[in-house]
Amino acid sequence: MTAAFSLEGRTALVTGANTGIGQAIALAMAGAGAQVICAGRRSSSETVARAGDQAEDLILDLSNPMAAAGVFAEREVDILVNNAGIIRRDDAVDFAERDWDEVIDVNLKALFFTSQAFARSAMTRGARGKIVNIASLLSFQGGIRVPSYAASKHGVAGLTKALCNEWAEHGITVNAIAPGYIATSNTEALRNDPSRNEAILARIPAGRWGAPSDIAGTAVFLAAPASDYVNGAVLNVDGGWLAR
Ligand code: NAP
Repeated sequence: MTAAFSLEGRTALVTGANTGIGQAIALAMAGAGAQVICAGRRSSSETVARAGDQAEDLILDLSNPMAAAGVFAEREVDILVNNAGIIRRDDAVDFAERDWDEVIDVNLKALFFTSQAFARSAMTRGARGKIVNIASLLSFQGGIRVPSYAASKHGVAGLTKALCNEWAEHGITVNAIAPGYIATSNTEALRNDPSRNEAILARIPAGRWGAPSDIAGTAVFLAAPASDYVNGAVLNVDGGWLAR
């Protein structure tokens, strides 16, 4: 059974691997035996150092949504983790076009075109593939003061299903993880706001914020043979938040 959860012999590319959830996923995938390409708009040197000789650094700035177009022609990648993401907070009535475009470009448009480049390469080689998207509770809920983020993450859930439908016959699975409230720089503003922090904690059945490592096991599962018949799914890893 262990082999079903092993990533031995696989190569994974994780976007936004220098910190937070992406770093935890990259380290867990290396721990499960994968070679990991740690991609980000700046160096993932700390992640690479911690993963030993199983990781390499790749500068990939996804504010250009087509940035990954050539990446998969140069490397045979079996697993793509679309983790890189940004958030902008403001009242919807004041929300700026720039904060709309920047979030949609990184969180949604880059996720689509990076997935397309990955799938084209896999199909050309006749290889199987695994895509793991990082969605959000705001793939299901609206949130407060984060309209472009909510729109982008609803889009990630939709694309996960749309790409599953087209690529399953090519041996490519496309799934997503919807993390709950995880303590990273993405949520720093919420944790620093005493009333929001208290309200969030009160609703989480687990009674605590998640850690980036709480997401890693599900990512390994969705990249491993154990999940071969899981496709088009959005798995909540949220300490019970959505069950409440
Ligand atoms: P984080 O610590 O802010 O990490 C975000 C990662 O994305 C960083 O590595 C960041 O690089 C990278 N990134 C941002 N813009 C990029 C670009 N233009 N090109 C390439 N990489 C870029 O936050 P996180 O919480 O780990 O977020 C990871 C993912 O989880 C995001 O998609 C986020 O929406 C999602 N998520 C987080 C939570 C949560 O509670 N934390 C909940 C649900 C979903 P830099 O370090 O250079 O900025």
